[in-house]
Amino acid sequence: MKVSERARAVPPSATIAVTSRAKELKAQGVDVVSFGAGEPDFDTPDYIKDAAIKALKAGRTKYTATPGIIELRTAIADKLQKENGLKYTPDQIIANIGAKHSVYEAMQAVLDPGDEVILPTPYWVTYPEAIKLAGATPKIVQTNRANGYKITPQQLKEAITEKSAMLLINSPNNPGGFTYTPEELADLAKVIEGTQVYVLSDEIYEKLIYGETKFVSFASLSDDAYSRTLTVNGFSKAFAMTGWRLGYTAGPLEVIKAMARLQSHMTQNPVTFAQDAAIAALKNDGGVVEKMRTEFERRAKYMAQRLNGIEGVVCAEPTGAFYCFPDVSSHYGRTINGAKINGSTDFAKALLEQANVALVPGLPFGCDNNVRLSFACSLEQITKGLDRIEEWLNR
Ligand code: PMP
Repeated sequence: MKVSERARAVPPSATIAVTSRAKELKAQGVDVVSFGAGEPDFDTPDYIKDAAIKALKAGRTKYTATPGIIELRTAIADKLQKENGLKYTPDQIIANIGAKHSVYEAMQAVLDPGDEVILPTPYWVTYPEAIKLAGATPKIVQTNRANGYKITPQQLKEAITEKSAMLLINSPNNPGGFTYTPEELADLAKVIEGTQVYVLSDEIYEKLIYGETKFVSFASLSDDAYSRTLTVNGFSKAFAMTGWRLGYTAGPLEVIKAMARLQSHMTQNPVTFAQDAAIAALKNDGGVVEKMRTEFERRAKYMAQRLNGIEGVVCAEPTGAFYCFPDVSSHYGRTINGAKINGSTDFAKALLEQANVALVPGLPFGCDNNVRLSFACSLEQITKGLDRIEEWLNR
């Protein structure tokens, strides 16, 4: 059967080579330490599971309204008001099947062929594909280590053309582990004030911030920012609910309505009893989210400190999300045990084969000098994996 041009243009996930090889090695009985995870290693808290079980037993097993039940959208509106200082009516909110779906659907709703989306590196691998599937073009802006991998107001100014339709901001950042300060975001907001550029602000890691880091929603920066921003968030990371598939988008009414029209033909509503569970998640977590955050913070500090202790590795301490994104490029050009290391893909492959540690090359995120290590695994695994990396690079 023929495969569409559209589907053919989507590359297989660039991270898959390393993860499937890691699985293969594990199946052969090799003790692989994996830093590849993009999800919390914690289980969903019981109070959330209990709400889903209760909902199922009460027969909450039918379709709901396309954008999600009004009780969920009201709970999200309350959360956005209370925690982010954002005033949205429930009509301005749509629940989606994971924030990945939110990103895809938002782009389908606002982008046209010929539009450009300003995409700073490092970027989550899904963004360029979602942009292209909407017929638009990613305009990649290369950031650098000296600026903490953040796009500067000057770079943003230079990237804007008459074709620019959207700026993508992801803070705290996957894979970078950094968070824009409120001042940095305000400076970016000033650059696009009065232009035709929308913002998609992916705030999924909002609750996972460390040290003195302050989180601010892009839409809360000014009335102008509010009117041009689509705020994307979800339950996967903060509440350890990756498998529940629940995200949401808040923004201008006409865009949310357009998303709902698309959603009504694509997927209908998010899973009914997951919506009930999400209301419970938002209502009162009894401190479980903070407990997970504290544990991530401990690991972030330890992992960054260990990485910086390795010759030729430079890593900023993460201020958010659950990733370290060290620059390992000073090892490029070396041959380690017969393997030539010419970039992040070679680095990840050789490390896995020779020292049995799995991490993700930076190349698919737009930063070939770096590799991504997730600390969504136990401190014991982190110690073991870093011992191996250190020993391997010292060979
Ligand atoms: N945005 C970013 C930056 C992410 O890292 C992820 C998960 N990897 C998502 C969105 C999607 O999360 P989900 O679909 O599970 O809600």
